[in-house]
Amino acid sequence: VSAYSQDFDFFYFVQQWPGSYCDTEKSCCYPSTGKPEADFGIHGLWPNYNDGSYPSSCDPSSQFDQSQTSSLLKRMRTEWPTLACPSGDGLKFWSHEWEKHGTCSALGQHDYFQTALDLKNQANLLQSLTSAGIEPNGNSYTLESIKDAIKQSVGFTPFVECNDDTSGNSQLYQIYLCVDNSASNLIECPTFPHGKCGSQIEFPSF
Ligand code: 5GP
Ligand code: 5GP
Ligand code: 5GP
Repeated sequence: VSAYSQDFDFFYFVQQWPGSYCDTEKSCCYPSTGKPEADFGIHGLWPNYNDGSYPSSCDPSSQFDQSQTSSLLKRMRTEWPTLACPSGDGLKFWSHEWEKHGTCSALGQHDYFQTALDLKNQANLLQSLTSAGIEPNGNSYTLESIKDAIKQSVGFTPFVECNDDTSGNSQLYQIYLCVDNSASNLIECPTFPHGKCGSQIEFPSF
């Protein structure tokens, strides 16, 4: 383990709601492998410092190498789909996440992606929300009800990031959970990101 590699305090594990990525002025493009399922997708697993800053691109010589994650490819396609335009198969998104964040994680490429995939299984956000009656059907919910539903079921308080739909309504975009710096356990977040949600938050369908 090189000196820089574990020089951070915790991870943000960030999942995105595809309906909210797409329902914006910028819109989205479905992956070349097909429309993702109507579920949260992984955005990334991001090393962070307690003061809110974060390391990035810690090893420019380490490029994403598909061969190290070939056994995970099927899961990555369904659980970590890219929605950016133009349509892609995900390689560009995964490469970006590895090079910017993964290289600061002290994990190898296989473990980095597998850890994120396993965290998604452990923190089933859609199930947590729907079992509290919070459904992706275009209705709106309070920030508190969304946070409480996830806390109840996952056991830790999330941070909710909102974006605006094409009419300017605040909608549920990304959910942040925190993980200890060995990537073993979910923890309460030492520090929350910034960003405001409206008093009513839309949960659009996808
Ligand atoms: P945005 O400006 O869209 O919030 O974030 C742009 C990018 O900066 C994100 O995709 C992510 O790579 C990185 N980023 C934003 N906020 C944080 C943060 O709090 N911690 C870490 N580690 N990365 C962040
Ligand atoms: P970050 O730097 O915030 O970790 O990652 C954001 C980068 O990944 C941007 O360059 C964005 O265009 C690209 N990207 C590709 N697919 C997606 C996606 O589905 N969601 C998000 N948020 N970014 C994506
Ligand atoms: P408190 O610390 O009282 O929970 O929240 C302080 C402020 O942060 C309030 O304006 C509240 O709306 C905002 N806030 C708390 N949790 C979240 C969250 O998960 N996401 C966003 N966007 N704002 C939050």
